[in-house]
Amino acid sequence: MALVGAGPGDPGLLTLKAAQLLAECDVVLVDRLVDPAVLAHVRDGAEVVDVGKASWTGTAPRQDEINTQLVARARDGKRVVRLKGGDPFVFGRGSEEAEALVAAGVPFEVVPGVTSAVAVPAYAGIPVTARGYTQDVCVVTGHLDPDDPGSRVRWQALATGPGTLVILMGHDRLPLLAEGLIRFGRPADTPAACIERGTTPGQRVVVSTLERLAEDVARAGLQAPVATVVGEVVRLRDRLAWFG
Ligand code: SAH
Repeated sequence: MALVGAGPGDPGLLTLKAAQLLAECDVVLVDRLVDPAVLAHVRDGAEVVDVGKASWTGTAPRQDEINTQLVARARDGKRVVRLKGGDPFVFGRGSEEAEALVAAGVPFEVVPGVTSAVAVPAYAGIPVTARGYTQDVCVVTGHLDPDDPGSRVRWQALATGPGTLVILMGHDRLPLLAEGLIRFGRPADTPAACIERGTTPGQRVVVSTLERLAEDVARAGLQAPVATVVGEVVRLRDRLAWFG
């Protein structure tokens, strides 16, 4: 049983280890919209099960069912790959799947993947750290707004803390997230960018300031999956853009 990262989109970013496991497995459980070129590595005759979870929402209404399926199939003696977008342990609920396997006594391995948090900015020509710009980066979920009582993200600390913020799952709440960061002390003119479908041929990038980002992204009509980068490193895109 292996929890495997599929990378952020570009099928060339699959690891050799992931490709090898796909070539040897009996069954692979995939999130929706894993690139077909990645699935081309799956052994002929192996079963591919779409567990129906959008790889970019990070929320799984049926997480319990996925866990149950993983355990059941592994107990059948099958070689099972659970293929997840990006890296399985970066907002992928991979830890919950691993815990379910531990609880069921099913041995497993984890194959890290290239995470969108770093790769998507890179394909937009934005290094998440850069000497002379910033030497720290924080990857944070934007799935709840900063004033939501259920949010455990310390937005107040993040506003004035790490130089680079990479916000995943934040597309729907961009106005509230940007407003919150400014209210908590991040300068309104901080460079910021949103990248839609990064690392794929459909990649689109909007560069703006924190204050204007939500408006500019809405005008451009970007749709999830979108990664957001806030910080001085965004300026480097002017010189380093290489992909789109
Ligand atoms: N485990 C994944 C992240 C899951 S959370 C990883 O390591 O990459 C899902 C979020 O990742 C999306 O809401 C989006 O913010 C981001 N994301 C994933 N793929 C992306 C892509 N190709 N382009 C832009 N953002 C992406």
